[in-house]
Amino acid sequence: MTDIALLRRTAHYIGGSWVDPAESHSPLVVTDASDGSTLGTVPDGSAADVDRAVDAARAAFPAWAALSPSERSGALLRVRDALAERAADASRIISLEVGTTARIADAVQVGLPLKTLAGFADAALHISEDQQLGNSTVAREPAGVVGAITPWNYPLHQLVGKAGGALAAGCTVVCKPAGVAPLSAFILADAIAAAGLPAGVFNLVSGSGSVVGTALARHPGIDVLSFTGSTAVGAEIAAAAATNITRVALELGGKSASVILDDVELERAVKTSVNNAFLNSGQTCSAWTRLVVPRAAQERVIEIAISVAEKLTVGHPLDPATRLGPLASAEQQSSVLDYIAKGEQEARLVFGGSSAPEGFAEGYYVRPTIFADVDNRSQIAQQEIFGPVLCIIPHDGDDDAIRIANDSAYGLAGGVWCADEGRALAAARAIRTGQVDINGGAFNPIAPFGGFKHSGIGREFGLLGVEEFTELKAIQR
Ligand code: NAP
Ligand code: MG
Repeated sequence: MTDIALLRRTAHYIGGSWVDPAESHSPLVVTDASDGSTLGTVPDGSAADVDRAVDAARAAFPAWAALSPSERSGALLRVRDALAERAADASRIISLEVGTTARIADAVQVGLPLKTLAGFADAALHISEDQQLGNSTVAREPAGVVGAITPWNYPLHQLVGKAGGALAAGCTVVCKPAGVAPLSAFILADAIAAAGLPAGVFNLVSGSGSVVGTALARHPGIDVLSFTGSTAVGAEIAAAAATNITRVALELGGKSASVILDDVELERAVKTSVNNAFLNSGQTCSAWTRLVVPRAAQERVIEIAISVAEKLTVGHPLDPATRLGPLASAEQQSSVLDYIAKGEQEARLVFGGSSAPEGFAEGYYVRPTIFADVDNRSQIAQQEIFGPVLCIIPHDGDDDAIRIANDSAYGLAGGVWCADEGRALAAARAIRTGQVDINGGAFNPIAPFGGFKHSGIGREFGLLGVEEFTELKAIQR
């Protein structure tokens, strides 16, 4: 059972205290993805709340920026420990908000942010020291107040990626979580309060994107606006931030390709790729949603892919037998079902489909779905679906495979499968994305993460992500 106080939040976290909203609005309702019932509520904030939070962050900035790296590192480790004490609650709540299965919620939704916080504590100690360039001393300084706007798919991880990186750099933070999954942000605020961080270094205002998000994006007191979400909203935010010449970091969508070349043993490559595509029911920006395979091997690939998808038991996210939970919202479910219906026109449906999975009249469930003989120019291959939908696309050799992988408005992630090291590396370098994994190379939480093209601007995580929250200063003597 989850304590009701963790589900019914009535205050924003501003200046080190829980503060009632400036205006009284009815709260935002958070739904349980498994049945559409009310899971919890959070305040529906206003521009006045954002003003107060930005003031608190500005007031806290000079002292936080002046701390030594080891003091900031120690503070981040205390936050990590305080969050670890709350891990079970955070995992359960995110499972119900987002639909993530309990095992993946423990490991990825909560376990990964804990590792990431420890990584940021380490990175805080390694921010580049002053460099001598001719008669200049070049210093890295904290950029100021960071506004963080996050989505619902990995709500705690994405928030920690921004807030943890910013705090490590010596910046202070005002964040706005997504209305679909805001509750873990409040748990992070609880952890930050328990860890005794100085008042105002971390502030949380919940509310809608159109009111609280817009107010943050156009606030003159924000120095860096860091956003993760859709490309359309990212463009709006960049335009709003431009009014004040606010720097933006954007982590947007993806349509990543796993490219299988013709010398590889198919079984492992296909299994890993299919599981990657369906992680978190496909609600993953870096998911390999296009599987680009040798034309001659397509039928064998389909067989293996179906055998993997058959094991993805659809069910309640907290049921230990479940391998594929529901989607996060009714809106997301209907958008994904529309894409599947489009796919049924555009390509060959080989598994799943747009009919409801059996036994799930309520909740936002969608069947794991696979299309084959997909034309890379079709809508299901070009647009981010953000659900459990995989497109198998045949290729005619390495150059064609790379051309297909790059024929996308996005450029976030991808995979290459090839037995020959040199050929694999050449393909990985030719793919225009922020990350590429060769032969299932492990996810690295301290590697920079972010995209080329419409997938965004800037990088998050690890030391390189921390340094994105700094400004360079040249001092001449
Ligand atoms: P979104 O609409 O882009 O929202 C992301 C965040 O921005 C939320 O906190 C949202 O608040 C806020 N927001 C919305 N409109 C805003 C505005 N005009 N100004 C400032 N902030 C604003 O993304 P979503 O609704 O979470 O998901 C929609 C699609 O985005 C998905 O289907 C998927 O394609 C993509 N997506 C990508 C990623 C990724 O990691 N790259 C993650 C999630 C989603 P509210 O939602 O509370 O209004
Ligand atoms: Mg939205």
